[in-house]
Amino acid sequence: MCGIVGYIARKQNPNSLKLGIEALKRLEYRGYDSAGFAFWDESKKDIFCQKAAGRITALEEKANIAVNAVALSANPLILHTRWATHGGVSESNAHPHCDCQNNIYLVHNGIVENYKELKEVLQGEGHQFRSETDTEVIAHLVEKFFQGNLEEAVRKALPLIKGSYGIAVIAKNDPQKLVAARLSSPLLLGLGENEYFVASDPSAIIAHTNKVIYLDDNEIVTITPDNFSILKEKKPEEIEWKLEDAQKGGYPHFMLKEIMEEPEAIENSMKGRLLTEDGTARLGGLQDIVTRLRRAKRMLFTACGTAFYASLVGRYMFEEYAGIPVEADVASEFRYRKPIIDENTVLLCVSQSGETADTLAALKEMKMKGVLTVGVVNVVGSTIARETDAGVYNHIGPEMGVASTKAFISQLTVMALLTLLLGRQRNLSLVKGQRIAQDLQALPEKARIILTQEAKKIKEIAEKYYQYNNFIYLGRKYNYPIALEGALKLKEIAYPIHAEGYASGEMKHGPIALADQNFPFVFIAPQDSVYEKVVSNMEEVKARRAPIIAIATEGDERIKTIADDVIYIPKTSEMLTPILSVMPLHLFAYHMGVLRGNDVDKPRNLAKSVTVE
Ligand code: GLU
Repeated sequence: MCGIVGYIARKQNPNSLKLGIEALKRLEYRGYDSAGFAFWDESKKDIFCQKAAGRITALEEKANIAVNAVALSANPLILHTRWATHGGVSESNAHPHCDCQNNIYLVHNGIVENYKELKEVLQGEGHQFRSETDTEVIAHLVEKFFQGNLEEAVRKALPLIKGSYGIAVIAKNDPQKLVAARLSSPLLLGLGENEYFVASDPSAIIAHTNKVIYLDDNEIVTITPDNFSILKEKKPEEIEWKLEDAQKGGYPHFMLKEIMEEPEAIENSMKGRLLTEDGTARLGGLQDIVTRLRRAKRMLFTACGTAFYASLVGRYMFEEYAGIPVEADVASEFRYRKPIIDENTVLLCVSQSGETADTLAALKEMKMKGVLTVGVVNVVGSTIARETDAGVYNHIGPEMGVASTKAFISQLTVMALLTLLLGRQRNLSLVKGQRIAQDLQALPEKARIILTQEAKKIKEIAEKYYQYNNFIYLGRKYNYPIALEGALKLKEIAYPIHAEGYASGEMKHGPIALADQNFPFVFIAPQDSVYEKVVSNMEEVKARRAPIIAIATEGDERIKTIADDVIYIPKTSEMLTPILSVMPLHLFAYHMGVLRGNDVDKPRNLAKSVTVE
């Protein structure tokens, strides 16, 4: 959840602290309630540590003072941006944490589940604690085993920890080393020229190198200025992301940049995969399991948040066009259910980061039962990507905005590709497959039309509605999950507005009680097979004088007579409408958040890759 950066250079680098802070800022989207750093100061022969509650800029000010005061080279250096799990947001709870003797300094991502027991034992042995965090026990455990060799001490301490960790550690009494390790929390080693990095995600270090080694669970890496060693020998891989992908590129927010990249996200997710003439798709990552997929009799989808809503859309697609029964569950529930499985059941896990702890736990549970597991993941080399038997990458570059936008669009696109693949293995006719493939091909252009032609109107609608405190989003069939996604995005970004997504038909079974002139309803009402039913629901709401915003198919004049405000999307085949209908809702949530004065890239209390259960 949080961000970790570590740095160690062959030669002293007077810019290392600045470089470290810059790298940390690229991880700020992962957690941002407090931050800190610690480094070995050769001139003082001591470790220098600073922390600050709040955003990284607060820490940066302290760093500037530190650098000016001593003109030093920070080497090795560790940095952290926190998303608090144990202990409030305060300077003393910010990382790095250190032991009693100010020898061991450590940053941690994850949760030490048995920290209470460990703390009691350590306190019994005389250790003094200075924070309320679970993390601090690791520093004291390492202290307990430290006899001059840092990696030895870390190696002895880690087996005692239950839970999850990505850690980076330095020690005053073994100063030429940086030790890092992981368990169920992402961590990678970056190999630069004459310098090494440790980071919880590649976006932190792509400005410096694209050669990385992804650490596996239970691996410990020891890095010195000249070398590194891991328990297991591993080959470096190349990061395909570019530095520009992790920058705002002239946009005021990552969220807006990423919404504007949605048409490109559709293209990138389809590139080289869509076989229009055959009305199907070829997905390289599934080549080895194509025959097993043909035998699949049931699919289980599991995911969290936005990715779960993409799975719900996928369920409608798979059942209608591939003829496969699908169940979709949020991962935090799925892992506790006992779904009925057999050798022809396939699990599909959807996760942008590939590190979502709940999804990973569900995946591990199903793997243990021998189910064939498939991932739809954006971050290459992430844990879910590596744990699944096969998978499809989204290929959309890093998503930096905390609230997912372009990744959702890409997940829907991949669902459509999977539908074609599985459908054509079964009963989907060539002609129908070709038609869907052609519609997919035309989709990026239609998406661009929405973002250019409707952008101004969407902003104006936001200006009209941003002071309302409650919204309901309604949709049917393919667009029911889009109602859920639209409402989720609004509450994530434009809080304290509350928004609820509902199946349009369910409206009369409860939510209609809320309808009055102070309670806007957002209808997703493209001209599809359930259009008439949705329009009837809209009439029912109108009769109760609630303001109505509608997403409708271009040319639909009838909607204008019912809804107060209409946003138009181009026509496409029914199963692809969600890809277009959600885009105005993303943009609407963005403007509402900005108008509410929220930090839309870092909405309160949230974090990007949710690596805690
Ligand atoms: N559990 C630790 C804490 O609350 C680490 C949280 C994080 O991953 O940022 O400090």
